[in-house]
This record gives sequence, C-alpha cells and structure tokens, in this order.
Amino acid sequence: MNFLQELRNDPRIAIEGGNPPGAEGRCVLYWMRRAQRAFDNPALESAIQIANEQRLPVLVYFRLNPRHPHANARHLTFMLQGLEETAQELAKRKIGFAMRVADGPGAANDLARIVSEVCPSAIVIDRDPLQSADAWRGLARACGGRPLYCVDADLIVPAAQIGREHYAARTIRPRIHERLDRFLTPIGNRAVHIAWNATPPAGALAPSAAALASLNIDRSVGPVAEFPGGGSEARARLRRFIRDRLPRYASERNRPEKDATSGLSPYLHYGQIGPHTAALAARDAGAPEADRRAFLEELIVRRELAINFTIYNRRFRQIEGCERWALQSLSAHRGDPRERVYSERQFENAETHDPLWNAAQRQMVESGWMHGYMRMYWAKKILEWSKSPRAACEIAVRLNDRYELDGRDPNGYAGIAWAIGGKHDRAWGPERPVYGMIRYMSAAGAGRKFDSRAYLARWLERPSPAAFK
Ligand SMILES: Cc1cc2nc3c(=O)[nH]c(=O)nc-3n(C[C@H](O)[C@H](O)[C@H](O)COP(=O)(O)OP(=O)(O)OC[C@H]3O[C@@H](n4cnc5c(N)ncnc54)[C@H](O)[C@@H]3O)c2cc1C
Repeated sequence: MNFLQELRNDPRIAIEGGNPPGAEGRCVLYWMRRAQRAFDNPALESAIQIANEQRLPVLVYFRLNPRHPHANARHLTFMLQGLEETAQELAKRKIGFAMRVADGPGAANDLARIVSEVCPSAIVIDRDPLQSADAWRGLARACGGRPLYCVDADLIVPAAQIGREHYAARTIRPRIHERLDRFLTPIGNRAVHIAWNATPPAGALAPSAAALASLNIDRSVGPVAEFPGGGSEARARLRRFIRDRLPRYASERNRPEKDATSGLSPYLHYGQIGPHTAALAARDAGAPEADRRAFLEELIVRRELAINFTIYNRRFRQIEGCERWALQSLSAHRGDPRERVYSERQFENAETHDPLWNAAQRQMVESGWMHGYMRMYWAKKILEWSKSPRAACEIAVRLNDRYELDGRDPNGYAGIAWAIGGKHDRAWGPERPVYGMIRYMSAAGAGRKFDSRAYLARWLERPSPAAFK
C-alpha cells in the first residue's frame, strides 16, 4: 500500500479536497490547534509521513488568538509556557515552528495567508471537537484546492469509528473497548528526512513570556503557580501520579482532601500531553487492576463520551443540549420557589451561604482547577440557587471557562450538562423541588463521603485573596 492509500485508510484522518499532495509544494504545513505537543501527536506524525514521502520539510504553524472567548492571562500564560517548550522540541526534531497573533476573528483568512506564503503541498490539522461545520468549511476553502488532512489527535478511538451521538457511557463503552487493541498503541515519533531551515514567515513571534507581555489581553484573571505549563511538567506529573496515586485511585478519587487524581486535565486540554501517553502509562503500570481500570474509564470512556457530545450536539453549551426527559422534568419545576437565588457576581465572589460551595469556588479561582467531586456539587448547587436551569447552565459555563485552566473543553460542557441537565445520566427519584428527576447532591452527603473539614481549612480558612475583596 502506498502512503496515500495508507492515509486514506486511516480512520483517524478525514481528507478534504480529493487532490493528492502537490509535487511542487515547498513544505508540509501542520496547523497546530489543540494538540500542542512535539511528541506522541498523530497529526504531527501524519505531516511528517507526507513530508518524508515527498522529500519536503515540515512547518508547524500556531495561530495565537488573544480574543478567543474567555482567553485571559491565566490560560495564555499556561499555553505559551507549553508552546515555548514545544517549539524547542520541534527544533530538535528538525521541524519548523511559527506562531503569529491572529489577524482578526476568522482563522480561515490567517490560514489562507500562511498557505500563500509557504506554498505547502498539503495541510494537516488536528481536530477541534468544538468547531462548527461552517468554520471547518471556511478552513477547507482557505487551502485553495490543496488537500487538507484533519487528524483525530486527542482521541484514542477515532470519532469516525463511533459515528453518532451517544447518550450514556454504557452505550459508548463497548464500542470503545472493542477497539482499544487496535488504537491504544504507541504513536511512534518518526525521524524527519528533510530538515526545515527556511526563514520564519514575516511577523512570526517566538512563544515566550515576552510575547505575552506585548499583547493586549484580559489580565483580570492571573496566572497560577500550582500548574506550570509544558510537556515536561505534564510527563513528570504523570510519572508521580502512576507511582503515588494510581494505586489508591479507585477508592480515593472522589475524596478531594486525598489528592488521589492525576491533575492532568489542564495538560490534556492544551494537548501538552496526549491521551495515548497517559493511557499507556496507566495500562502498563504495576498498580492494582481496579485502580488502572477506574482511571482508564475516566481518561478514555468519559473523556471520549464528552468529545462525542460536542462533535455531534451543537447545543453543547446550552441546557437545550440535554435529553427531552430532563428538559421536561426541569420545566415542570421551573416555577418552584427557590430558597435562595444568587446573582452571577455572588457566585463568582464565593458569597453563598454554603462554606463547602464557597471553598470549591475559591479553589477554582485561586488555583485554576477544582477537584472533580467538587465540580459536580458546585454545578448542581448553581442549578438549585439560580432563577432557571438555563441561567444556571450559562453561569456555570461562564465561570468554568473563565477560571479553570482546563475550561473551554468538551469535558467541561459535558460535565455541566450532566450536573444541571442529566446529560449521560438517567432519571433519579424521588422527584424533588427545582431538580425534578435530575440527580441531587447535598452538603450533608458530601460531608459523609469525605473529610470536608480538611478541604474547607485548605480553601476557606485562609486570608481572602484579592479576587474576593
Ligand atoms: C460540572 C463539571 C465541570 C467540569 N469541567 C471540566 C473542565 O472544564 N475540563 C475538564 O477537563 N474536565 C471537566 N470536568 C470533568 C472532570 O471533573 C475533570 O476532568 C477532572 O476532575 C480533572 O481532574 P484530573 O485531571 O485530576 O482527573 P483524573 O481523575 O486524574 O482523570 C484523568 C483524566 O480523565 C478525564 N476525566 C476525568 N473525569 C472525567 C469526567 N467526569 N468526564 C470526562 N473526562 C473526565 C480528564 O481528561 C482527566 O484529566 C468537569 C466535570 C463536572 C461535573
């Protein structure tokens, strides 16, 4: 099989534009989006494969968009820390890297510009599961007839193998599991045959703190020390997790005071580490099988269910993205009296009557990350204390996307839809005020599950940060 057939037969790759890569191209262009890493990156590997066959170099291009909704100094600092390292690692692999600040809101114009400047024989892109079909068509047009290869770089089982929206983990799980032998394998990092040694395109910036300082960005949410960005930090965290936490993951992952989870979500969100790297390390670890299974369930089944939701359901940020049974039940309780209704500002400032909720909000605002168990409680209480399910969903999405380093991610939209609108869940009785048949959580229940005093002491009983004054 020649390399073109291989690419066509690879279920991770969708090809736009029927032409084969042009013989007179000067490079292969990889337009890097979510998979911001130099290793274990299926999109980069496809670009190298095409380039090697055509005896061309690879140029990786990154479009920095400081106007991306909810992008702020916290997110951009983390991302640029990662990209700085990625650029260095790509250089060691003899691959070019160029980053330019977005020139206006549409990515398509910027893609057309770089395509006309560097004349690639083919363009490779990693899939963004949040992207609309219109935006995708715009990018395809911007390639001006050159082939565009869109690669599932951050999914273990390619989306094309799943093929439709799934409504619960129990339906997607078997489809994923029966394909893991084929797709949960090392990506491989092949050598580049022709080094990139052309001058960078005009206006390219090196990713660095200095580049960030020069940008006009939202600085109201600042960087956090708890999560330094970068692939080497992600790999070090993965190693520590496998050694110290994985062996107690099954029993302690829902206990926020125990720190038993990986804390990898910001790194996975920015693609600084790929799911294959984390999943293979856990699968092959010496930890008990129950722990490895529990972790792989979250990392593969739950994460890929969330991605499936955003690919196939365009209302993933809205309550309307949830199932009919849930919308009917919430609607039947829309007029129920609420004991409390807080404004978005009160939520944001952690000014509710509930210390546990306030502690969770403070963990998110101060550290850029919230423990998974608390995320469930946090979003359910926003439903309980908002004027409507729609308002609750909007507030939760805005706060999550603004403060969480891993925000603006399919996992966030699916998690909020699960908590507020029963997405991927089932109806739970008895029927309750406000919640209807949506699963309920209480502070007392949380208190029985874990040592909430330790969590409160850590996040609440310390001096109020500037954000709360
Ligand atoms: C209301 C709500 C909001 C959420 N917002 C986000 C968000 O913005 N970004 C985000 O990445 N996750 C979000 N989650 C999912 C989950 O809580 C986090 O992924 C997890 O807590 C991150 O911590 P960790 O990396 O230590 O997870 P670990 O337990 O170590 O799990 C490893 C990885 O598996 C994936 N994973 C774990 N739990 C889930 C889950 N329930 N659904 C889908 N994938 C999962 C994540 O990629 C995670 O990094 C949200 C969940 C809820 C209920």
